[in-house]
Amino acid sequence: MSDDGTRDNQRPGGELPHSLRQQLDALLESTLAGQQAIPRFDEFCAEVSGIFDAAAESRGGDVATYIPELACVDPERFGLALCTVDGQRFARGDATVPFCLQSTYKPIGYCIALEEHGEDVVHRYVGREPSGRGFNELTLDHEGRPHNPMINAGAIMCCALTRPDLDPAGRFKYVQSRWREVAGGARVGFDNAVYLSERETGDRNFALGYFMREKKGFPPDTDLMETLDLYFQCCSLELDAQGVAVAAATLAGGGVCPVTGKRVLEPRTVQNCLSLMSSCGMYDFSGEFAFSIGLPAKSGVSGALMIVVPNVLGICTWSPRLDRLGNSVRGVEFCRALVQRFAFHTYDNLRGLDKKRDPRRRALESWSELATLLGQFAED
Ligand code: GLN
Repeated sequence: MSDDGTRDNQRPGGELPHSLRQQLDALLESTLAGQQAIPRFDEFCAEVSGIFDAAAESRGGDVATYIPELACVDPERFGLALCTVDGQRFARGDATVPFCLQSTYKPIGYCIALEEHGEDVVHRYVGREPSGRGFNELTLDHEGRPHNPMINAGAIMCCALTRPDLDPAGRFKYVQSRWREVAGGARVGFDNAVYLSERETGDRNFALGYFMREKKGFPPDTDLMETLDLYFQCCSLELDAQGVAVAAATLAGGGVCPVTGKRVLEPRTVQNCLSLMSSCGMYDFSGEFAFSIGLPAKSGVSGALMIVVPNVLGICTWSPRLDRLGNSVRGVEFCRALVQRFAFHTYDNLRGLDKKRDPRRRALESWSELATLLGQFAED
């Protein structure tokens, strides 16, 4: 300011002094680092690595056998990948070994149906209430709808709502391409052996389909066999933990893929999806998971687990041994340890709680913090 109180627009000429330049560089660097979702990423990953190693010790549970081909997987496999909403990535173990998605397909299947028809239409056909029952239980809600899109009946219904205007090949290719988008261009394969095996033995899913048809639950002109076939194909889509972590990060980022920077899902779609992952994503362990871990997640009987820390990062663990409810034993252990260490539980920031470590970006919170920062410039 000049003496008369008006702003002095004159800038000193010439180059900045060396010492000031160095300080500004350092400040800029720390400010930019502070802009990242997880500023001290290496430190964070070192701790996550320790959690991975501890979970790897666990050998509880059994691989799924009710789909015969799933029993062929090596039970020792364990992969972990994470991706922040700004694209920082980390992986351990079998993170590049492909596995079939099984029920981790369901959140994106629900998003696809939502974007095609809108929330009102989709929820005419499928509820949004936890069932409190097993994922393939022969049960519908009191209106004759599947309880939610995260269990088999609801996912079959979402398949019925997925591009019925296309032929079967077109429908499959459409789903595959949507997955490729949310996973940042990752290779989305198909496990034909699992598909054939499940189609051969999937009586329960056929029963669910007939049950819903009996209740007149499907949209007009639904071809039941084509719908079930699409459902089996979706469950047999194949990605690795790296790709699923990017898909989870796309959900964490409100629909923007951190790898491509493209918006691939609408924020409202993602909000709905995360809400149902929080309440229904872990089968009839969902209430316990919401209570003790407090994050939206989705598991699959291949041992995959997709976990979302909204606005921060997406995680995928893959370990085929399951507990009696169908969730990956190591995956759930990993999540427990993660939220013990870091303040990621949805309600960890409640006032009065003991503070856990919070690795995410901290914004400037007060005028005095801003003044301190600016003071560093003023001193020179
Ligand atoms: N394809 C499996 C089934 O229909 C999916 C179940 C799961 O992963 N929970 O039984």
